[in-house]
Amino acid sequence: MSAPVPAAAPPATPPPATPPPAAARPLPVPDETSGPYWSAAAEHVLALARCARCGSFVLPPDLACPHCRSTDPDYAFEPVSGRGTVRSWTVVRQSGLPGFAAEVPFVLVDVELAEQAELRMIGRLLDGPGVLAGPEPALRLGVPVQVAFEDVQPGVSVPAFTLAAVPGPAVPGPAESSGGAR
Ligand SMILES: [Zn+2]
Repeated sequence: MSAPVPAAAPPATPPPATPPPAAARPLPVPDETSGPYWSAAAEHVLALARCARCGSFVLPPDLACPHCRSTDPDYAFEPVSGRGTVRSWTVVRQSGLPGFAAEVPFVLVDVELAEQAELRMIGRLLDGPGVLAGPEPALRLGVPVQVAFEDVQPGVSVPAFTLAAVPGPAVPGPAESSGGAR
């Protein structure tokens, strides 16, 4: 995802005494295909493209449906639960993107969404890097996550994830899953 970032620095002025505003992150540039995704995200709803031919969710929506190969998938965007499980992650310690210098290190998670096998979505884990600390880190393969939204600008929100409370008897203790790393 690349986005043009206006970088109009006046040539003859001295360097600013204060750092640039934090809003220098690249913003999503909705197009014909992704517009409904971003307008739903702005309302804190995760809506994904669903093939009208076979009913499969496709993320990101491709020209042809990868499931039924239809070249006329006639996608419609439908809200999904936003629940999923972590299948991989990476810790970003250096960011080449503008606006993220103050954010590192942060965790990107690769999530399989609950709606469909292999329906994968990558996003930031907003719980902070503390989820990897300690002898029994809160972030492990297969842990449940829930979609969350980063409001980066009025009317612009980016889907991300947070660790979800672990249901069932496997819960080690209330302190374990509360993710107090903020
Ligand atoms: Zn299809």
